[in-house]
Amino acid sequence: MTILSGPHLWPASRAGATLTVDLAAIADNYRLLCGKVNAAVCAAVVKADAYGLGAEQVAPVLERAGAREFFVAHVDEGIALRKIVSAETRITVLHGPRPDAAAECVYFDLRPVLNSLDQVDLWKREALRQQSPLDAVLQVDSGMSRFGLSRKDVGDLADDPERLGGIRTNLIMSHLACADDPANPANKMQRQRFLEMAAMLPPAPLSLSASSGIFLGSAYHMGLVRPGAALYGIAPNTEAANPLKQVVRLQARVLQLRNVDVGEGVGYGLTYQPEGPRRIATVAVGYADGFSRQNGGTGCAWFGDIRLPIVGRVSMDSLALDVSAVPEALLHADMHVDLIGARRSVDDVAAAAGTIGYEILTSLGGRYYREYTE
Ligand SMILES: *Cc1c(COP(=O)(O)O)cnc(C)c1O
Repeated sequence: MTILSGPHLWPASRAGATLTVDLAAIADNYRLLCGKVNAAVCAAVVKADAYGLGAEQVAPVLERAGAREFFVAHVDEGIALRKIVSAETRITVLHGPRPDAAAECVYFDLRPVLNSLDQVDLWKREALRQQSPLDAVLQVDSGMSRFGLSRKDVGDLADDPERLGGIRTNLIMSHLACADDPANPANKMQRQRFLEMAAMLPPAPLSLSASSGIFLGSAYHMGLVRPGAALYGIAPNTEAANPLKQVVRLQARVLQLRNVDVGEGVGYGLTYQPEGPRRIATVAVGYADGFSRQNGGTGCAWFGDIRLPIVGRVSMDSLALDVSAVPEALLHADMHVDLIGARRSVDDVAAAAGTIGYEILTSLGGRYYREYTE
C-alpha cells in the first residue's frame, strides 16, 4: 500500500496536540484516597471511559494499585471492562439492569445497582430464572432526587421483605448532592436520611461518598467510598489546596506565527483588536477537540513560565495565543505550548470555561495523540 511507502512520521508529530496521561499519578491518587479512608473499601469509578482518559489503560493500573471494586454507569461499559480486569474484580453498574439486559449482567458477572422497585422486581425474576441468588446494590434517594428508592419504596420493601427474595443485598448506597461544599447543611441531612432509610433494609455495608465526600471526614466513609474525579486529579473542593496529583498534560502545536497591530483583528468576529503590536500564534486545538469556545478571551496557555493569553474566539480546529512575551529566538512553528500542564490544571481550564473539571476531562478530543506514562 502507498501509505506504507510514504514518509514515516510518528503519530505524535502529526497530531495537533499530545495528551499525556500519567498513570503513576492515578495510582498514587488511589493510594492517597485509600490511606484517607482507612478501614473503608476504596472502590474506583471508571465510567465514561475512565472520565475520558481510557479505561483500558487506567483500570489495570488501578487494579495493580489494589482496587478490587470498580463502578461504571452502563451495562455496556461493564461488559467492556470485564474483558480488561480480572475475574475476581467486582464490577458494579450504577444505572442497573434494563429489562433487556438482566441476563447479560449475570453472564458478564456485573453487579447492578437497583434504583427502583421495577429494577428490584426485574432482578428478583432474573434470580428465579437463574435458580440462584444474585448480588445487588440497593440505592436509596437521600435527597438528590436523581436515582434510588424513595422513602415510600423503602417502606414497601420493609413491609414485604419477600420482594427482595433471591437478591443478596451486599451494599446499600446513596449519593451526595453538595459534597464539594463542606459547609452545606444538605450533607448532614442526606447522611442522616441515608442512615434512617438503610436501617429499614436488610443489613449490608453502606456507601455514601464519592471523591468530595471522602474529604468531609470519617463519618462519611462508612463501608465503601466511590471516588472517580479525585483519581484523575480533580480537586475535591475549592476550599483547600488540592492534595491530589495532576494526571493530564495537553501540549498543543503552534501552526503559524504572525504580527498584528492596531487596526487589525484576530479570529471570528475580530473580537480581539490589539492596542499595540502583538505577536500571535495559531495553535492546532479548537472546540472540535473539546476545548470549549468559552476559553476565548478568558483562558491561557503556558510556555515554560510564560503565560500566553488566548485571544479572540476559539475556532473549530485552532485558537490564537498572544505570544508577545516569549523571546523571539524561542518562537517557531511546530513548537508546543501547554494548554493543560504544571502551570494550568484541569480545574483552572474549567474555571475559565465556566464549567467543572469533570466536563473538561470527559470532553477531551479524539484527535489528540495520546501517550501513557507509568
Ligand atoms: C460518578 C459517580 C461517582 C464518582 O463521583 P466523583 O465525584 O467523580 O468521585 C460515585 N458515585 C456515583 C453514584 C456516581 O454517579
